[in-house]
Amino acid sequence: MTVRDRLHEVLAWLVEEFPVNTKVRLRVERMPKEFADCEGMVWLERPPLIRIRKGMSRSASIYTLLHEYAHVVVADRAGWRETGAHDHADAFYRTLGRVERAFGDRGPSHG
Ligand SMILES: [Zn+2]
Repeated sequence: MTVRDRLHEVLAWLVEEFPVNTKVRLRVERMPKEFADCEGMVWLERPPLIRIRKGMSRSASIYTLLHEYAHVVVADRAGWRETGAHDHADAFYRTLGRVERAFGDRGPSHG
């Protein structure tokens, strides 16, 4: 399974485990120049767009996806108001912790 296919599989699992009120778009590709150092980015529009940098290891790619998806969950809970949705405050890390823990416990396993 390619990294891209694996990420789409993990995203399908995330959407089931942590549902949000919108579709979520995912692309695995080169990052735009201004974000060249980022492993991932999320555009918190509706529907949100998650971009994961192409060429990373499988596990780095997956954990980047979990991180970006946690931003989507926070934004969805906040009703898609822009304020704070990109930040890394405690509420974000609480959500990320739940997402990572659920993934470790019962995420789709294909290695
Ligand atoms: Zn972040």
